Amino acid sequence: MKHTIKECTQCGTEYSYYMSDNMDIDWNLNDDKLCPDCMRIVRKALSKVKKKFEWRDVDASEEITLEELLTKEKSRKESDTFCFTRLYPGLFDMTNGDSSHSRDIPVGKKEYNLTTWDHNPEYMITKSIRWDIKNKKAVDGKEYNKPKTLIDESKQRVYQQWLDSIPKNYDPYPVIPMTEPVGLKMALGLLYNGAGDRDMKQSEKEILAELLENQIKLNVDAGLDPSELEQMRGMRYDEDRQ
Ligand SMILES: [Zn+2]
Repeated sequence: MKHTIKECTQCGTEYSYYMSDNMDIDWNLNDDKLCPDCMRIVRKALSKVKKKFEWRDVDASEEITLEELLTKEKSRKESDTFCFTRLYPGLFDMTNGDSSHSRDIPVGKKEYNLTTWDHNPEYMITKSIRWDIKNKKAVDGKEYNKPKTLIDESKQRVYQQWLDSIPKNYDPYPVIPMTEPVGLKMALGLLYNGAGDRDMKQSEKEILAELLENQIKLNVDAGLDPSELEQMRGMRYDEDRQ
């Protein structure tokens, strides 16, 4: 939990200003110049100001083709030593295990967003434009369409073959059994350490502590090395001490 003590530039009160994420605080009131009380007044006043402009995703498939974007993406990956690409959370098709990928691809001074699937031939090409909310039109005065799903014909046949190859009752998310007792111990340890990076809620701590204690009991019977059990307990006690 990273924070520094700041002095409010308006009322002079000292307050904690937080810099790291994943905490249960009101981020709207976390400001590096104003204390939470003053920020509350600012936020309340600002809430009366209506938003005038925003970014909107629109269809860009008439400006650039899928082939052009894929070629550009490939050449970027091959030529740039550091190829930074902004990725977005993809979708996962629970019926067959197919995944979608959404990413920004710069072309000259423009930037497009392309969404494709590993197998599914559906794709979408969009770009972001500035939208004038009050006048209900694009700031550049041009007409745009909403993002639309298109079909990559070249993938169509392979996709059908791939679908046909999936066995009936296929489970893309199989439960992989962990080897006892090490697998579960590791999983719990990772869970506990991962959660320890942030300010855990008391309820989360209690649940994890209970899980850990239960697992320790089970592992005693399963013959786990006692020193490892101590280590597991240590994780919890270290956490409690902080
Ligand atoms: Zn203040």
